[in-house]
Amino acid sequence: MRYPEYIDEIIGRFEGCGEQAFIVGGSLRDMLIGLPPHDYDIATSALPEKTLSLFADKRVIETGIKHGTLTVIFNGEPVEITTFRIDGSYADARHPDSVSFTRSIEEDLSRRDFTVNAMAYNKTLGLVDPFGGREDIEKKLLRAVGDPCLRFSEDALRIMRLFRFSAQLGFDIDEDTLLGASACQSGLEHIAKERIASELLRLLTSPYPCRALALMAERGIFAHVLKNYSPVLEDLAKAELLPRDEAVRLALLLWGEDNDTAAEHLRSLRYAGKQITGALAVLRGAKERVADEHSARALIANTGVYAPLAACLSEVMGISPKGAMATVERQMDMPCKISDLKINGKDLASLGAKGKLIGSTLEQLLGAVIADPRLNQRDTLVRMAREFLSVKDCE
Ligand code: ATP
Ligand code: MG
Repeated sequence: MRYPEYIDEIIGRFEGCGEQAFIVGGSLRDMLIGLPPHDYDIATSALPEKTLSLFADKRVIETGIKHGTLTVIFNGEPVEITTFRIDGSYADARHPDSVSFTRSIEEDLSRRDFTVNAMAYNKTLGLVDPFGGREDIEKKLLRAVGDPCLRFSEDALRIMRLFRFSAQLGFDIDEDTLLGASACQSGLEHIAKERIASELLRLLTSPYPCRALALMAERGIFAHVLKNYSPVLEDLAKAELLPRDEAVRLALLLWGEDNDTAAEHLRSLRYAGKQITGALAVLRGAKERVADEHSARALIANTGVYAPLAACLSEVMGISPKGAMATVERQMDMPCKISDLKINGKDLASLGAKGKLIGSTLEQLLGAVIADPRLNQRDTLVRMAREFLSVKDCE
């Protein structure tokens, strides 16, 4: 198990005063899978006040002190430290009514969502794995901790997390867990749209979204994610052919919709204005056929920086021929406006041009550069400008 030394230093401080502490959650899961871990979570038997006093020499942010979570800045890195806890009953399918602390790591692990997320590790006790998370990692399987129906009815966001983890890790979903997720899907109606949207976006931009999307479509989950949306399986199956970019993958999700409906869907998920503009530009642009440099430039004029992604989606969906994206990318680097020229008005003024003549000379140079982009070099353009201006002088 490889992780930074300061994690053991944190765990050591707890153990030094008779408490337990473990690495838990996603960072432990990722380390066991062999993925680079990010943001370390520590679970401890110590109550938050004790954690505060143990880290009095560090900067501590009281992230969610009511729920037992503190963020300690250790070596410049934020580490979340949470007291072992048991969640109380859930009234609204999302927020536990109460949280109680416990001194048992096993109890803390039993409230967690999936077996691969319900393990704990420290050097003293090794791996604590009461639900078989390690074996499920070997099998590449996502399985709910405990009774799936109960767990998804406590918190329906876990349904989205299930599909997101499957897409992120490329893991299969255990049959009973999938049945539970299907059976409890209406609970998603009680979950904030922003949270659903954020999980959906993480799913879409993951390395392996196809199986998760197909399962969601098959089990009718989209009904609670996007109203009146009909997923098209053949379209969704192409997700992994596209770059892991949110605009292009959202555009694929909405491929079967017209632009207005697609815009409505994106707004219903409360995505930011820029995210919506990007996805719509790609969706619109991808329906334009790019067959040559001329059509590539038209696409660039219509969709700006989104043109290469639009061309990529267009290729994948069979609207444009293979190579369309490469054609667009080549054109993206091409000078197409006066500010792209490697010469400017000041340069021309120093060559003696004045007033309107500066503008008309730049236009003339741009025309030449568009015809032959190799001319866009400062020395060449200065030479051409001199010739052009001397002709003008003679006129
Ligand atoms: P990532 O950080 O990549 O999203 P993660 O597994 O670390 O993955 P977090 O949301 O950071 O997910 O949560 C940390 C841990 O807390 C999880 O591994 C899981 O054990 C537990 N957890 C988080 N959300 C839930 C939930 N909704 N229900 C049950 N347990 C949860
Ligand atoms: Mg995490």
